[in-house]
Amino acid sequence: AQSRYASLRDKPATARCGTTISLHMNAGLMADLPSLKGSGAEGVGLFRTELQFLVRSNVPKRGELARIYAGVMDAAAGKRVAFRTLDIGSDKVLPYMKRVPEPNPAMGWRAIRLALDRPGILRMQLQALLRAARGHPLAVMFPFVAEPSEFRTARDMLLAEVERERALGHVLPQKLEIGAMLETPSLAFAPRSFFEEVDFISVGGNDLKQFFFAADRENEAVRRRYDMLNGSFMRFLMTIVERCAETGTPLSFCGEDAGRPIEAVSLAAIGFRTLSMRPASIGPVKHLVRRVNLRELGEMIRAECDAGTDNLRPAITAWLAANTE
Ligand code: PEP
Ligand code: MG
Repeated sequence: AQSRYASLRDKPATARCGTTISLHMNAGLMADLPSLKGSGAEGVGLFRTELQFLVRSNVPKRGELARIYAGVMDAAAGKRVAFRTLDIGSDKVLPYMKRVPEPNPAMGWRAIRLALDRPGILRMQLQALLRAARGHPLAVMFPFVAEPSEFRTARDMLLAEVERERALGHVLPQKLEIGAMLETPSLAFAPRSFFEEVDFISVGGNDLKQFFFAADRENEAVRRRYDMLNGSFMRFLMTIVERCAETGTPLSFCGEDAGRPIEAVSLAAIGFRTLSMRPASIGPVKHLVRRVNLRELGEMIRAECDAGTDNLRPAITAWLAANTE
């Protein structure tokens, strides 16, 4: 499949209307990095850091993590990598952490909640990232932020580590971006000041969708029931786009839907300019983006929303069939 799109690899994802969409890849292993070149991705929009913690029987050492992160940055050769700090919950249990049984782990003590309650691991991970980045730009994002205070506490922890590195005379990152993942509906309605404070927002569509529809993403009986192209969800995503536009906050989308061509062009049509997806999706998404007038698609999506259409998929699919060149 990759070879079918090979001729597109070095071409931009520029739509018929002239808008260019920035396509990035998701990764989680050093072994994923060769795909950065092969896929034509502009960077790593989501580097999941859980695996290095899950494959061990002890907490990894700071130096060991720093070496891995430095390897990732080296392999990215100057392209941006957004490191997502540890997102574990009681469903992804670390063998060396005391397990607290929870009835609803996805809504439980996970990600930034756990990190802030047990700051030792997060602090160590942030130190490893800073050491790995010496002299290079660094982008860090915190998962599952539900309210601004969580972001602020984690950000201040990172800034304190920067000061510590400075005091130790270590080389600091050349540039530091600190972002939040928007994965809970609450964060979309945070005060404007939050949108001004974050350096960027990345929508974690997998979690955001599960909490928007109250439908467990792990539960086969309900997980396919709700569509990203549902009118209510699309209206909600448009609200996020508008709020970020008001404050000029860079916005991206990194859930699985970003890698599905019809969903991807729909996201682009409502204003997402950066999408991050599995490497194999970059070719197919780029192929469709280049054949679509995103402005016209956006107008059609808005008109369907205004007309009260429940699920936009039939209209979008029909429109694409008639309007792609
Ligand atoms: C998401 O929730 O969309 C996301 C990108 O994070 P994860 O799938 O790792 O929860
Ligand atoms: Mg998530």
